[in-house]
Amino acid sequence: MSQQTVFNELSALDKKHIIHPSTNPKLHSEIGPKLIFESGEGIYLKDMRGKTYIDGVSMLWNVNLGHGVKELAEASYEQMKKAAYTTTFYGYSNEASVRLAEKIVEVTPGDLNAIFYTSGGSESNDTAFKLSRSYWDIKGKKDKKLIISLRRGYHGVTIATQRATGIDAYREFSGSGDPKIVNAKPHLTECELGDKSHPEYEGSIRSIIEKEGADNVAAVILEPVQGAGGVHVPPEGYLKAVRALCDEFDIHMIADEVICGFGRTGKMFGVDHWEVVPDFMCVAKGMTSGYAQLGGVLMREEIRDAFFTYDGMLPHGFTYSGHPTACAVGLKNLEILERDNLIENARLMGDELKKGLEYLEDKYSFLGNTRNRGLLAGFDLMEDPEAGKPFDGSIKAAASVVEESYKRGLLIRPFDFTPGMNIVAIAPPLVVNKEEIDKIIAIVDDAVGAFAKTL
Ligand code: PLP
Repeated sequence: MSQQTVFNELSALDKKHIIHPSTNPKLHSEIGPKLIFESGEGIYLKDMRGKTYIDGVSMLWNVNLGHGVKELAEASYEQMKKAAYTTTFYGYSNEASVRLAEKIVEVTPGDLNAIFYTSGGSESNDTAFKLSRSYWDIKGKKDKKLIISLRRGYHGVTIATQRATGIDAYREFSGSGDPKIVNAKPHLTECELGDKSHPEYEGSIRSIIEKEGADNVAAVILEPVQGAGGVHVPPEGYLKAVRALCDEFDIHMIADEVICGFGRTGKMFGVDHWEVVPDFMCVAKGMTSGYAQLGGVLMREEIRDAFFTYDGMLPHGFTYSGHPTACAVGLKNLEILERDNLIENARLMGDELKKGLEYLEDKYSFLGNTRNRGLLAGFDLMEDPEAGKPFDGSIKAAASVVEESYKRGLLIRPFDFTPGMNIVAIAPPLVVNKEEIDKIIAIVDDAVGAFAKTL
């Protein structure tokens, strides 16, 4: 059977039997999968029909070590041969989860010295909300329940984390949500630095705390660098200001490091750029580079110690909390990340990516606001970026550039949730080299050029 025949067969079955996440279901039921991946090596992925693509966003910003890493497969195999799965409920444990915890607390900043394991990012954030509220319960502050998040923050898709997500399409899907989770109106603006004259000050984190009363607020959650909201790097001093705000009002600071964590931004964690220690740190994705489903919530010693006074069964946990195979992969992932200096590579290649994007910014008048931290990068397509004037809503600039890149063998991601929003994100695996960065920029250049001709 030819590969095309197999593709057609799988496509017909896929169309009929699978509802895909973050996909247009109507369109998918008509046209089926765009790609069916077969294999990968480094930054490259091959589809069933034999075409090779550069994975320009590490799939979902998670395949940090790149594709086809045999050592990760072997770590998984070795653990599976011993015991693929055992539970960590009822005080049971396993070596991989303990060794990984030891290693992770060593690389996290400050006294983030205990972890609660989950199987992904949404579960980690959901868990952080529950642990934060539960900590305040233990401390006798039972009204501290409110969680404040930011516009354009993305925290996941469980009922609680979708509510914390500040992207309307996700936040409003299915119409339900925890009413005790509110969005601050501005996303990453100077008003959080204390500028009360800022036009968006009303609705800022501080103004919400003042309105609701600190006794009713449990935590503030934010991404050190926002990812799915369109790659937004906070203004200098922002994270420190939020930390100070949380200290002032006795509120937890939750850092959602699901994308930033484990080297993507050129430091081990996003908060390390600003030397901030959050109370909770949520991790997933880069923890295993996507080779196994694993996440976790790190917490500071004071919080850990409060839970050590909780004298009863802790009614929280996932079947896959502390999954031995996933943890064995996570341990090997960290070992490779450090051994191969991949965080330093992310920083250096991030600088190269930045140079390439700045070259494109000079070349095309409608491409602007290029930004990055390490290998987490983005840019805007606008009628006039300097004046902040977006394209007319009918011009699908980001989708067009991403489609033109796809035709040329590069997978990158558009962000166009609202009319006029045209952001493109680039976030290749941390193993990328200079030649490959040049290739990515050359393809984006051609793709933007093709889009320019349609204007
Ligand atoms: N938090 C951030 C910052 C994310 O980017 C994501 C996923 O993209 C999540 C949380 C949710 O993670 P998961 O899809 O593993 O539940």
